[in-house]
Amino acid sequence: MDATTVICRTCAVEQSAPLPPVCRICADERQYVPPYGQLWVSIGQLAAEGQRVVVAELEPGLLEIYSSPGVGINQHSKLVCTDAGNLLWDPIGFIDDEALAAVLDAGPVVAIVASHPHMFGVQVEWSRALGDVPVLVAESDLEWVQRGAPVIEPWRGDLAVLPGVTLTQPGGHFPGSAVAHWSAGADGRGVLLSGDTVLPNPDRSSVSFMRSYPNRIPLSAAVVERVATSLCRFDFDRLYGNFADYIDTDARPIVRASADRHIGWVRGDFDHLT
Ligand SMILES: [Zn+2]
Ligand SMILES: [Zn+2]
Repeated sequence: MDATTVICRTCAVEQSAPLPPVCRICADERQYVPPYGQLWVSIGQLAAEGQRVVVAELEPGLLEIYSSPGVGINQHSKLVCTDAGNLLWDPIGFIDDEALAAVLDAGPVVAIVASHPHMFGVQVEWSRALGDVPVLVAESDLEWVQRGAPVIEPWRGDLAVLPGVTLTQPGGHFPGSAVAHWSAGADGRGVLLSGDTVLPNPDRSSVSFMRSYPNRIPLSAAVVERVATSLCRFDFDRLYGNFADYIDTDARPIVRASADRHIGWVRGDFDHLT
């Protein structure tokens, strides 16, 4: 891998030279530039600082990959493993030889997909290290790619990326915000990898839908209804968010009930409580 690859310290998305004055993803209203200003860092520098990668099994057939002490938004990537190959979902903004070996050890990666631009990480760097694996980017979010490469392939709608693994773009957080449905997950009851389309809440029994989580920008009732309707087409019992957060069971009815709650609040049904 290329130790000179540069990422934004705040979102950990890779950038091409010449570096812009500020990361476009962080300058957007959904993210933020920290008070001390824009900082860039190379993968080599991160490694020298002691950054390392942790790989752990979440359940049979599903690994999580995250960096410690952490870079940028610090998502937990997911590796969905099937007999037909593996999907690397929401790639982290760091890579080292150990991480690469762990991913290769789990089987061939057939596609790298970020749920949305905040989760691009070093997707092109991962692709190169894994042998130029296709990097699928939602067609409507291509404008946020800050390191172009021939391996990037636009996609839209629903996509059966592997047998039993379907990608879809309900949008919301970004126009192309995607989720991955893995039918064999949770002992065959189905798993949803939700990106930032759906955020599992700390109560572990509800979820949220937002245009921006750090800046608390809401979504309308119509958009949340669209997202919930799109997701509830799938059978899933468990939902994994971007980090260590998840809904262990009954995730589908929880998504539906949480959408109804959101819609009720923005419609004014609960104004008497305020
Ligand atoms: Zn950034
Ligand atoms: Zn996001």
